[in-house]
Amino acid sequence: MLCLACSAPGSPLCFSCEQSLQRVPGRIVGTGNVRVAVSPAFAHCGAAARLVHNLKYRRSIKAGRLLAASMADLLPLDADVLVPIPRVLARRVSYGIDQTTVLARLISDITGVPVQTSLRTGVWHRRSAGLARGRRPVPAFEMCGLTPRHPVLVDDVCTTGSTLVGAALALGIDGIHAVVASSATGNASPIVHGLET
Ligand SMILES: [Zn+2]
Repeated sequence: MLCLACSAPGSPLCFSCEQSLQRVPGRIVGTGNVRVAVSPAFAHCGAAARLVHNLKYRRSIKAGRLLAASMADLLPLDADVLVPIPRVLARRVSYGIDQTTVLARLISDITGVPVQTSLRTGVWHRRSAGLARGRRPVPAFEMCGLTPRHPVLVDDVCTTGSTLVGAALALGIDGIHAVVASSATGNASPIVHGLET
């Protein structure tokens, strides 16, 4: 069996990829009356970054399942629905996958919490990767259907948190929770016991 992150021998991860996984603490993003409590499964480095990449660009559902297993542990007890942050249509078409909806469905398989794809985004919005922090636009989302009472947002990577704040604004909920596969900011620390599968 080959490592789901780097394809070296090892399952589900090779020794070196397992050693590269880092924890990062949760944080609050947003200002004023919209705050999002973000719980990341991993720091966005090493194998975690490669697993996200393999899900997002290579449609590796097995990589997604590994990430989802760790994300499921982070759900608040009162979560009643999982709301994925949708990928814009142009990228869904280009890469043939909406990775956050896949992650939400995989978390749902583990926890039984249903998925509600109630957020809509446009055909395209400006790519935010590479823009300086503080200059990133808050992406616009629309809420379709009824707003759930205790939704949890699901995203693949959190950097500035502006995307999650945009989603919280669309839902009209202050103090919402989000679980993400990885966080690109925060002080990472090694995981002592490795990945639980
Ligand atoms: Zn590996």
